[in-house]
Amino acid sequence: MYRIKKEALEFMLGVSRSLYPREFIGFLRAEENTITEVIVLPGSVYGRGYSSLQGHMLPIDHSIVGTVHSHPGRSNVPSKGDLHSFNKKGGINIIIKYPYQTIDDLTAYDNAGNPVEIKEA
Ligand SMILES: [Zn+2]
Repeated sequence: MYRIKKEALEFMLGVSRSLYPREFIGFLRAEENTITEVIVLPGSVYGRGYSSLQGHMLPIDHSIVGTVHSHPGRSNVPSKGDLHSFNKKGGINIIIKYPYQTIDDLTAYDNAGNPVEIKEA
């Protein structure tokens, strides 16, 4: 089970809302199993219906535990592309669905695409 700090949660919801209908993508920093920070990389690609995580731009940083991105609709089921990018990244992957209001709009997945419980820290 993961926890997420309120500031990190509010940040990812706010960025998702402001970029809608474009997708927001970023990386997650954590201490133990608590997500503390969202990192948005320069050069990340945003667009309608697609996003591209540029993993090669990621600095070597062992506090980064996974990815986050938003979906422009009310589904946060991972796409095949999502599962592909999950496999190369860290231990937790969050998808945020419209309308990006509360933690209920988040679903967290492990690298295999299985849901993982996430709660506010
Ligand atoms: Zn996706």
